[in-house]
Amino acid sequence: MVGIVIVSHSEALAESLKALANQVSKNKVSIATAGGIDDESDPVGTDAMKILTAIQEVYSEDGVIIFMDLGSAILSTDTALDFVDDSWKQHIHLSSAPLVEGVIAATVQAAAGIPLNDILSEAEHALQPKQSQLGKATQKNSDVILESKADQINVITETYKLRNTLGLHARPAARIVTTCAVFDAEARIRNVTKSGIFVNAKSMNSLITLNAVQGNEVEIQTSGAESMQLQSKLGKMFNTNFGESTAPLVRKSLPRLEEQAAARSKGYIEGISVAPGYAVGPVKHYEHTLPSIIKESISDVEAEIKKLKLAIEKAKAEVIDIIEEGTSTIAPEDAAIFEAQILLIQDPELLSKVEKRIKEERIAAPYAWRVTLDEFIAIYEAATSGSQLSTRVADLIDVGLRVLEKLTGESYNTLEVNEPVILITEELNPSDVASIDTQKILAICTTKGSENSHSAILARSLGIPSVFGMGKLIREIPEGNVVAVDGELGMLYTRPESTFLSEMEKKRADWLEIKVNASRERLEPAKTEDGIQLDVMANVGSLADVYQAIEQGAEGIGLFRTEFVFMTSGNYPSEDDQFAMYSRAAALLDGKPLVIRTIDIGGDKPVPYLNIEKEDNPFLGWRGIRYSLDQAELFKTQLRAILRASTHGNVSVMFPMLSTLDELNRANLLLHTCKKELSSNNIPFDVNIKSGIMVEVPAAVTMLNNLLEHTDFISIGTNDLTQYIMAADRTNSRVAELSSHYQPAVIHTIADIVQKAQKAGKHVSMCGEMARDTRLTALLAGLGLRSFSMSSNGIPEFKWRARKLNLQHSSGLSETILGMKDVKEVKSTLQQSVL
Ligand code: PEP
Ligand code: MG
Repeated sequence: MVGIVIVSHSEALAESLKALANQVSKNKVSIATAGGIDDESDPVGTDAMKILTAIQEVYSEDGVIIFMDLGSAILSTDTALDFVDDSWKQHIHLSSAPLVEGVIAATVQAAAGIPLNDILSEAEHALQPKQSQLGKATQKNSDVILESKADQINVITETYKLRNTLGLHARPAARIVTTCAVFDAEARIRNVTKSGIFVNAKSMNSLITLNAVQGNEVEIQTSGAESMQLQSKLGKMFNTNFGESTAPLVRKSLPRLEEQAAARSKGYIEGISVAPGYAVGPVKHYEHTLPSIIKESISDVEAEIKKLKLAIEKAKAEVIDIIEEGTSTIAPEDAAIFEAQILLIQDPELLSKVEKRIKEERIAAPYAWRVTLDEFIAIYEAATSGSQLSTRVADLIDVGLRVLEKLTGESYNTLEVNEPVILITEELNPSDVASIDTQKILAICTTKGSENSHSAILARSLGIPSVFGMGKLIREIPEGNVVAVDGELGMLYTRPESTFLSEMEKKRADWLEIKVNASRERLEPAKTEDGIQLDVMANVGSLADVYQAIEQGAEGIGLFRTEFVFMTSGNYPSEDDQFAMYSRAAALLDGKPLVIRTIDIGGDKPVPYLNIEKEDNPFLGWRGIRYSLDQAELFKTQLRAILRASTHGNVSVMFPMLSTLDELNRANLLLHTCKKELSSNNIPFDVNIKSGIMVEVPAAVTMLNNLLEHTDFISIGTNDLTQYIMAADRTNSRVAELSSHYQPAVIHTIADIVQKAQKAGKHVSMCGEMARDTRLTALLAGLGLRSFSMSSNGIPEFKWRARKLNLQHSSGLSETILGMKDVKEVKSTLQQSVL
């Protein structure tokens, strides 16, 4: 096969061109590069020895074609040829073709096994497609085949429509050329839509000259012994759209591109967009340092251990307070994520080690606690990526400091800010976020962290523009430097000029105004501009949350996470206690829907008094419905409480973490048993109560058609579904990009779920964090989703933005996004579509 040599003054250019050529020819052709020179201080140039090596690399008697860029490249190539054996010279050809076009045209033809002279000619005319598309050239005679020849046999003419997004671009054109080359047949092609003339279908250049775009029809005429076989092969390629997306071509909006280009020249660092919004202000770096504690000897070991236990109790009480009451800025529902810390405070391993140190070394509790904490942090940090341990360092430090404060009476690492700043830090502890003064912290940028980490959820809850996982570079920005943050795009602008700063200030003002307007109109329905009503419900974890939800404009409760009630009470609540809570919630809602999810404990939601053994992989362990089904009597107390509450309002019951039909059948059977028990005791309940399931395990998606036959409705739990589809722990920053609901795999799964539910005529809603992300609303509504459930504080803005949507205008969006294969592409397209 003919070999190709690329000679360029730039190594990068030569290598990139080789990569492009390999892509279009599927690595079928030997290509060698000779780019740049070996001089670190000035690497631009050409080197005869490099060219000689490249020739030797790809040489065969089939021939070698050398493509060169500028002036001295020819000289160096000539010099290289002086060293080549005479017998080789007749097979080596220097092409005068333009570098990029020539290499691509020749590689495609070489891959198709086309003879050397034809390849050379094709390459020489490689500029022609561009020239003709720009109206600057006439057709090359040999490629124009106006008439079919009289002596041709098996003449077949077929018309095909180009449905793929990019039309007859280089890749499909290459496939046509290579396919035509393997059959004993002639082929010519024309663009019918543009009334074009027939050209040679075995010529890449001619194909590109057709300028055939999405929606155009092309006519292909074949003849010769294998004419039929060739047509049938071509037909398959067109019918399967060359394996490419058929989404309509979307041109990115100009302002965004300009904005990006401007940003690039001004300097910016990109990260994961965690909470939207804009901010301008001076940088403040914040470091977590564990305080050093002096080693002191003690004589009364028992008293010291008592002191330790008291400090732990006080720290625990503080955490419980945060969970139960939230803080001035954090809703109780979001504060519930501090639950994980209770387990850490009570960790028996940690405690026994500290106690042992106190006893054996006879040292004071603060020092013993501090050094043991260090040991544990080291273990956590050394834990492999993806393990639960490694994600909990922030929580461990948080808890460790809280206990230390109680032991010493000092306060450590409190985030003190006197003027409005943009906070830059490695990772925020949940306590830091909870104590943030939203007037002073304008934005948060972290080197680590991920979209669904505890701190991220809290930052969203606070409404502070936040960009996480930005890498170490942000630590180098000098303290006090004025920077700008775009939480929407996930950008930190490091060197903004004054005009850019004013633009960002204006954006911030607009954003704040939207928040005010959204809040004012929060009780209005979320009806899109073209009249489509979206149901906007709230996720809650307590009665207090239900009040807040109604206040924020929720049209019902799409998810009552009852496990929070269990987590914050000291023991398993009785049936009557549960009934009291559920019925009050139902009554408060006054006929609005209340979906009560049975307990989803386990995973990252521990319940200390249930004494569930520690698991290596709690997210894959005994959680949700798995636990409930195994504890049938306890489960029945909850089901009975929900059934009894159903007479007080519009109540439904929902099961979490369903993976199999068997689990659903068993849960339904228990529900049925409870109904019978209540009936036989003349206890009223709504006989028409609906029961539904969370779809959050990939197995449930696969088997959804079967599950849908046995359930009244479904709710998509995207938090778990995302991490299970992507096999990426949502709390692990190293896999943050994977565990994102922008991943094409996640979006395809959502589309699949909605479609299956609609086909089965069952109600479908979404209650994971994805539902709240307004960048996705048009897409999700485009997929057919009409019901969204989210934290109450996201409701006003969600409704406001939904009202600005026109789903008819964005009808092609879901198809476009479904055609995308890369998370970055999805993200940037959706970010541009947001208002
Ligand atoms: C989910 O997984 O998306 C969900 C809503 O459930 P939870 O966050 O309570 O696990
Ligand atoms: Mg879940």
